[in-house]
Amino acid sequence: MTEAGLGGSGFGTWSGTYQFTARRLIAARTIEDVRLAVAAGGRVRALGTRHSFNDLADNGATLVTVTGIAPDPVLDEASRTVTAGAGTTYGAIAAWLQERGWALGNLASLPHISIGGAIATGTHGSGSGNRVLSAAVAGLDYVDADGELRHAGRSDPGFDAMAVGLGAFGIVVRVSLDVEPAYLVRQDVYAGLSWDRALAGLDEVMSAGYSVSLFTDWSGESVQAWVKRRVAGPDDAVPAELCGARRDPGPARLADSPVDNLTAHGAAGPWSQRLPHFRADVTPSNGDEIQSEYFVDRRHGPASLEAVRRLAPLVTPLLLVTEIRTTAADGLWLSGSYDRQTLAIHFTWRNRPGPVDGAVREVEAALAPFGARPHWGKVSHLGAGELEPLYPRLSDARALFERLDPQGRFSCRRLERLGVRAIR
Ligand SMILES: Cc1cc2nc3c(=O)[nH]c(=O)nc-3n(C[C@H](O)[C@H](O)[C@H](O)COP(=O)(O)OP(=O)(O)OC[C@H]3O[C@@H](n4cnc5c(N)ncnc54)[C@H](O)[C@@H]3O)c2cc1C
Repeated sequence: MTEAGLGGSGFGTWSGTYQFTARRLIAARTIEDVRLAVAAGGRVRALGTRHSFNDLADNGATLVTVTGIAPDPVLDEASRTVTAGAGTTYGAIAAWLQERGWALGNLASLPHISIGGAIATGTHGSGSGNRVLSAAVAGLDYVDADGELRHAGRSDPGFDAMAVGLGAFGIVVRVSLDVEPAYLVRQDVYAGLSWDRALAGLDEVMSAGYSVSLFTDWSGESVQAWVKRRVAGPDDAVPAELCGARRDPGPARLADSPVDNLTAHGAAGPWSQRLPHFRADVTPSNGDEIQSEYFVDRRHGPASLEAVRRLAPLVTPLLLVTEIRTTAADGLWLSGSYDRQTLAIHFTWRNRPGPVDGAVREVEAALAPFGARPHWGKVSHLGAGELEPLYPRLSDARALFERLDPQGRFSCRRLERLGVRAIR
């Protein structure tokens, strides 16, 4: 293990838009390192690949990263699971599975995120029938508040709180994920999809493929649709039109990311190289951005999109891009899709913290009537008062985390502000 003092070192999130206040970073090389770090006492918090945009991972004390622990993937074909180190990136496990003819059910837009960090915040991809990535978690090995190695599986009580656990109950060191036989995906871009058609037939548009994303900057009368379809072979025909929008064979663009950094369009390929938007083998962009995202009940999809459209004069100049996706309902207590079919409205903002802060507040006010839940890993100003009614099992999750970690070793200010941990 290596240990570094962080005082004033400018160590921050991947985007650099949040600087950690923690004083020490322990880079574990083994599970034993994690046990020793926790057993040493004081406040400890897990850190993944730092792709979140707020102070969720921070605690002003000690951070422990498990990204340096060997992935050691183990495929169990009988139970259809793969188990790997929590610090492994989705891109790495996806490539490993693909080589062996196996697959995950879905991926987020960025394959560079760690499995442990992604599931902790309920990270999701898209697809009206696809649940958030944490729903594929079959089991977790974690180091508890006493420094002991524990296992929790899907059938254990409280597991539905631990699968989207916000680092609130321990440091996850290995994760088992559901797998299925590898499949092919073809990605196509449809340009000029009119807002009117998209809003009138939102469910139809969002179900046009296995995974669908709409991109917009909220100006103009149309959006762009990226449709990822599971196909049987490279010659499968795909529709030339989507609700009046034509398939665009040209190179796709995504905010300020170089075109070459995006996964390929217009040709079938392995699931691992089509489901994410960004290629795993290159850095997606310089990260000079701020992100926020909100989850609404799909029944309120068109009305909530209309509400944001009314803010276009404020939002568009501050925005790199908005992505609109769907996820299926799940039973994970702290998932943004808990108990409801969900529409996700994401904002990649320019790195202009002051004005973006104001715009985020306006967006949150506009989406409040629709019960919008904020992404745990992105910028939001909502606190316990707003979140408690949005997450019916929040108090149950808090009670579980308090029981597992009575001294608040894994807590932090943000978890307290959000009502996920008790205030100390
Ligand atoms: C370019 C970009 C694209 C993105 N795309 C998507 C997307 O498509 N969908 C989406 O939903 N989100 C997306 N995100 C957000 C991202 O998936 C989440 O913020 C995710 O939590 C980042 O994982 P991480 O490993 O960087 O975690 P970190 O940011 O390092 O940590 C996040 C949280 O996880 C906890 N944690 C980390 N590791 C562990 C562990 N081993 N055990 C216990 N707790 C742990 C931390 O304590 C912290 O609370 C994107 C972010 C970026 C920068």
